[in-house]
Amino acid sequence: MRSVEDEDVCRVCGYTDGSLFFEDTWPTHIICSCCGWESGTQALGLEGTREYRGYWTGQGAEWSSRRERPKDWDLLKQLRNIPPDWR
Ligand SMILES: [Zn+2]
Repeated sequence: MRSVEDEDVCRVCGYTDGSLFFEDTWPTHIICSCCGWESGTQALGLEGTREYRGYWTGQGAEWSSRRERPKDWDLLKQLRNIPPDWR
């Protein structure tokens, strides 16, 4: 098993730009450029994380930071990055 101390992949959408969402298990409160989820603001368990993801994709999976959206962005491909514990 890989270390879960640091997390640089968004639990909601699988986005990563290398910034840490959790450092040594502590939320860093960065806001995901993609889905807009802020680590630590909402104490989301697995169900809450799935709900947020469902809501976000249901709204059309809009980027919270549109200018960072890659031209060839592929939602389904990105969703595969979601850590297994948060799928
Ligand atoms: Zn995200």
